[in-house]
Formats: sequence, structure tokens, C-alpha cells
Amino acid sequence: MSKTLINTFSKKLITWHGVSGRSGLPWQGNQDPYAVWVSEIMLQQTQVATVLERYPRFMKRFPTVKKLAAADIDEVLAEWAGLGYYSRARNLHVCAKQVMQEFSGKFPSDPILLERLKGIGRSTAGAIAAFAFRERAAILDANVKRIFARLFAVEGAIQDKAVNDRLWQLATDLLPSQSENMPVYTQALMDFGATWCTARKPVCIGIEKKCPFAKDCQANLSDQVLALPQKTLKAKSPEFDCDMLLVRAGNFVLLQKRPSKAIWGGLWSLPESPWRPRTERAHKSAQGLKALLSITLLEENISGLLKSFKGLKQGNQIKHIFTHRRLWMQIWELSSSNTVEFSNSNLKWVSLSQLGRYGLPQPVKVLLLGLSPARDGDLKN
Ligand code: SF4
Repeated sequence: MSKTLINTFSKKLITWHGVSGRSGLPWQGNQDPYAVWVSEIMLQQTQVATVLERYPRFMKRFPTVKKLAAADIDEVLAEWAGLGYYSRARNLHVCAKQVMQEFSGKFPSDPILLERLKGIGRSTAGAIAAFAFRERAAILDANVKRIFARLFAVEGAIQDKAVNDRLWQLATDLLPSQSENMPVYTQALMDFGATWCTARKPVCIGIEKKCPFAKDCQANLSDQVLALPQKTLKAKSPEFDCDMLLVRAGNFVLLQKRPSKAIWGGLWSLPESPWRPRTERAHKSAQGLKALLSITLLEENISGLLKSFKGLKQGNQIKHIFTHRRLWMQIWELSSSNTVEFSNSNLKWVSLSQLGRYGLPQPVKVLLLGLSPARDGDLKN
């Protein structure tokens, strides 16, 4: 391990940030732990351009941890809609309640205590502690792992525990000695990984910019920059099919609340069949309305529904790509002569004009927002 690099890294990085780091992002320079926490969670799996638009909106709607803790989960999910990875929104809500109940509404400064809160991992705890409390706490997100794996030519798959432990040790060894430098250092590390030492085009393989670490970086010196960090090969994403019911009763549409532990957990979606592995190339047509209702509205009285539901029509098939799987949703359209009552409180008729109040999965939102109001809104109730 290069001692010179260990001793000079934080200073050089902070100097680099003064010239080439990002500035003007709405969450930068904010020492309110609540604001730091929301931005860190939002940035985890969402691109900066999207966060730039959605972060101020979220903060306006839930300006304090107290307001977030007191909100209804449906309100939080509706505000989060479109950002994906909805467990983040559910965890934010649980965590806000924890902060109110266990810490009297004040985030703890100790990264070990922060890490015990729902949805806060070790790296996020480090970021909150560093930005909001100037604690000498390390971060190690994917960008930072890449920087250290290259600088010190750390070999072995990045997912391996031994490799991860080594990177955490480096992240700790490289921290600046002065705690007041922690916010700028942590921001600089994030910026350097996001803009200079990037996965595919790090500046050292081009000629336009000169990396301040080029002479010490082991990957650069041994021509392994693009080979590090090493990753294990990903298996091909599995593909699934499902049927979804789009039932309209005049200007109302039937929605079903998804289980909190499932994908799109806690959001309102269309009633759907269980997912099945996609084995056939073409989607098989459903066998008819009765069969379709029995696989989508599992616990309901199907014979009763058949008296009101009519006009089954095969709609579009929508493909949605998740990080680790693909889903083909076959939409089945039908109408109902009235807003039938259901025994299950997870089923609800929602007016098209009220859809904005519900957290909906993005493809379902796009589909529903494209529906035009019925000409004849008179229904039997
Ligand atoms: S020399 Fe290249 S790989 Fe090494 S830190 Fe700089 S940009 Fe990253």
C-alpha cells in the first residue's frame, strides 16, 4: 500500500474538489440531518437529474422529520411514485417514526446509532454523520468502491466479503485527520467517483483531463483501470408474464393495494394474476372472463362479479424492466355496470380525477393517466 497516497489523498481530493467538484446541488452544504438523510436515500438508486427535480418537491411536502412521521404512508408513496425502489419510501416513513419515538425527533450523530435506523446502511450512516455532524465516518458506495479498488489495485470480486472489508479499511485509513474537513471530503469523494473516476470513461484513459492521482494509482500504473473493480458475472434477468385487469365503471377504475413486501410494495395497482415464468414466446390468451377473474380477484365472489362485469377485451401488453427481472403485463379491459362492493379493503374504486393521490407503479400510472373520462358517468351504486 502506498504510504504517500494514504498521507496525501484527502488533501489532494479536497483541492481537486475546489476546482472540479460539483456545486450548486440543492442538498449540498445543508447540515440539517433530515435534509441530508432524504437526499442520500433518494440518490441511492435514482439519477441526479431526477433527484434534482424530485428532492425539492419532497422537502416541500415533508419539510421536517415530524411532518414525515405524521404523514399517511399512502401520501409518502404517492410523492415517491416514479422514483422506483419503493422500499426506500416505506423505510423513510418507518425511520422518521423511529427518530420521533426513540430520539425525540433528533437524528443521532453516532454512525453506529444511525445504522440501527430502518433503511440506513453503513455507507449512508457515514454520509449523514459526516455531512451533518462532521464525524470522521467513512462512506463506501459503489462509486467509492471503484475509486479505492483502482487506486490500490484491489483484486477479487467486489461482492466478496474479504474485498469489501479491505475497501472499508482503506475508506477509514484515508479519512482526513481534521473533522471539520469531513463534509467537503465526503462530497469530493462522491463527485470524483461520479464525474472523473467513472466506470467506463475514467479521465486517465482520455487526454482532456489529468487525474491528480495518476502517478500513484496502481490500476493506472499497471494498465488495469477498466478491469477494476472486478465483478462476478450476472445471470440473465428472469422474465415473467402476468395478467392485469383494467376494470372501469364510468369514471372510476378498480385498483388493488399491493402487499408491502412485494415489488412495488404498498402501491396501488391493477388487480393482477400471480406472475408465471415466461416460457412461451407469445402470450397465451386468457381462457375467458370467469377464468381471468378467478386468477386476479382471488377471494372475491366470481359469480356475483360476472353479473356486473362485461365486454372483455384484450388490451396492450406492457413490458417493464426491473433491475433483476422483466415483467410482461397483459392488460385485459372490461367494464362494470356499477361500482361493485368488495369484501377486501385492498380493492377500491378510484375516480380518474383522483388518481394523483395514489402511489401507482410507473407503467400503470402511464396507462391510467392516458384513459379518457367516460361520456356517461351515471352509474348504479
Ligand atoms: S488514475 Fe484513473 S483510475 Fe486512477 S483514480 Fe485517476 S481516474 Fe481513477
